[in-house]
Amino acid sequence: MKVSLLHYTPLHVAAHAIRTCWQSFEKGDGGGPKDRELIDRVGNRYRHASTLEHLVYTFYIQGISRALLQELARHRIASLSVKSTRYTLKELKKEPPFDPDDPQRASRYLVFTGHPEVDRASIEALERLRHLLASGVSNDLAKYCLPESYKSELTWTINARSLQNFLSLRSAKTALWEMRHLSWAIFETLPADHRYLFEPYITPKDQPCDN
Ligand SMILES: Cc1cc2nc3c(=O)[nH]c(=O)nc-3n(C[C@H](O)[C@H](O)[C@H](O)COP(=O)(O)OP(=O)(O)OC[C@H]3O[C@@H](n4cnc5c(N)ncnc54)[C@H](O)[C@@H]3O)c2cc1C
Repeated sequence: MKVSLLHYTPLHVAAHAIRTCWQSFEKGDGGGPKDRELIDRVGNRYRHASTLEHLVYTFYIQGISRALLQELARHRIASLSVKSTRYTLKELKKEPPFDPDDPQRASRYLVFTGHPEVDRASIEALERLRHLLASGVSNDLAKYCLPESYKSELTWTINARSLQNFLSLRSAKTALWEMRHLSWAIFETLPADHRYLFEPYITPKDQPCDN
């Protein structure tokens, strides 16, 4: 998978929102140490967490499975624009048949688990899908036999309060392995001066997965 940060709100905007409550704008330092401490104190420690909603991040997330996509879409406090299978499945029509013994070429379309039998079954499903499309079945019908491993991508926008909730739930060792990888990739893509707001919520990589 690949995660790119397309846009984000600078910290001084959240500090301005907080200072609006007390009209203490003269104490601001343009997103520097004073503002950073204020955002953490008010947004996190005082739990005046709505102030964190002024910080918004937009990511471009590529190469995740549709299995992961359906879990990601459960996070209602976020905005998604997802690659449409209805309009893009034609990408398979131009492909020659997929060979289950050649995962390299299929990896353009599938997320692999590392389990040989599961990954082989995914390639076989991909080949059956390609065959249907090549024989003239429409995208709208063929999409019903897509393997869950089929790669998708989306533009995802989320505010800091909701991102804390997401990282807390989805980097935990109870989460799906691919979701944990996504959580860490998102965290690592955040601007360095924003990460302190999320560090308490993320479970480190060295804790193994439950599933
Ligand atoms: C380990 C794990 C296993 C899971 N297994 C399943 C499963 O088997 N089946 C399944 O269906 N889902 C499952 N889920 C999904 C889970 O139930 C949530 O839908 C998902 O994690 C989104 O979390 P959220 O509601 O906190 O996030 P969001 O939808 O982004 O909501 C953010 C926050 O807003 C508030 N909020 C949003 N909507 C409401 C509302 N209607 N009422 C009150 N407060 C609201 C809550 O405080 C919520 O935490 C699982 C999640 C995890 C992490």
